[in-house]
Amino acid sequence: MKHLIILGDGMADHPVSSLGGRTLLQAAHTPWMDLLARQGRCGRLVTVAPGFHPGSEVANLSVLGYDLPTVYEGRGSLEAASIGVDLMSGDMAMRCNLVCIEGDLLKNHSAGHITTEEADVLIRFLQERLGDGRVHFYTGVQYRHLLVIRGGDKRVDCTPPHDVPMKPFLPLMPKAKCLEAQATAGLLNSLILRSQDLLKEHPLNKQRIAQGKDPANSIWPWSPGYRPRMEPFSVRFPQVKRGAVITAVDLIRGIGRYAGLRRIDVPGATGLYDTNYEGKARAALDALRTDDFVYLHIEASDEAGHEGDVSLKMRTIEDLDRRVVGPIYEAVKDWSEPVGIAILPDHPTPCEVRTHTAEPVPFLIWYPGIVPDAVQTFDEVAACHGSYGLLKEDQFIHAFIND
Ligand SMILES: [Zn+2]
Repeated sequence: MKHLIILGDGMADHPVSSLGGRTLLQAAHTPWMDLLARQGRCGRLVTVAPGFHPGSEVANLSVLGYDLPTVYEGRGSLEAASIGVDLMSGDMAMRCNLVCIEGDLLKNHSAGHITTEEADVLIRFLQERLGDGRVHFYTGVQYRHLLVIRGGDKRVDCTPPHDVPMKPFLPLMPKAKCLEAQATAGLLNSLILRSQDLLKEHPLNKQRIAQGKDPANSIWPWSPGYRPRMEPFSVRFPQVKRGAVITAVDLIRGIGRYAGLRRIDVPGATGLYDTNYEGKARAALDALRTDDFVYLHIEASDEAGHEGDVSLKMRTIEDLDRRVVGPIYEAVKDWSEPVGIAILPDHPTPCEVRTHTAEPVPFLIWYPGIVPDAVQTFDEVAACHGSYGLLKEDQFIHAFIND
């Protein structure tokens, strides 16, 4: 049997009063997911282990059954893999935001949503002035870049800049958690301050200010880690000889790379509501013809949850159902080699809180011949009665691939 995971990022939610106390998955019109729930079996999965933050990288690693305390090395190392930077032993990778500082305050974490093209000019400039045998800057996407420090010590306390808008930045600078990390923390502090001196004079920033835009006048490195020690998916599951990941999100691409899943890019896959749903569904079907496992990740509902927009998030759920789940199920249900389908979110992004939460997520598993349980719809409430119960760690992926 081949296996397909369809992951709707942030799709789970809380009961919403304007929906009569129903969740969005309950209220949305999702005939295909409900059909698979009815013909398959449901359960719930803990995707955020105790002590971890409910980030998408954490939750997606959990869905794939990786042991977080063993493999989690922060965002930088995953984004490095996504942009093709191979980390050597001892290389410490960090997410390096371009941010906007105003006076003493960290005004925003995105330098006023700078474009990749403009950011690339600044990151190359910083590499030229601050880079050396030990320090290397790489351009990523928009405000999200990469800093690699050879021989860096990751035991440094760093603040995610999106958590501290309009806060004084000096007290939030990186701090060593132990004696051995003091040199790394000192280097990071000096890089931040030197970047500020260099960037404030850069013509591109002067031009941005003249245009009324926020200047990208500081770096902000955080989430330090080394190359993750992740066993390839095909080693953990020998029946999966070849697997693929389809996503518009760097972190998920990075996970896929370390997991040994080949990356499929779909034109028009944006990570937003206008994403190319049909293209992603087609790419998943194509991949299933040659591969044993496909991880299809769709970001749109998470973005709508962050915006707190209930009707937009409902639309993303209905789009996923009608434009992805339906066509894929219709195509594969009669294949001679059966295809198992699992559908789940990575974490809730409830519209009322507009950020990720760590509660267990509902999941469904369907394959030809599965003996259904009593669950009739796919949602957070019905899944509580699913026959898989509440799973954690690698129990979901084993139940899906090995059963
Ligand atoms: Zn997510």
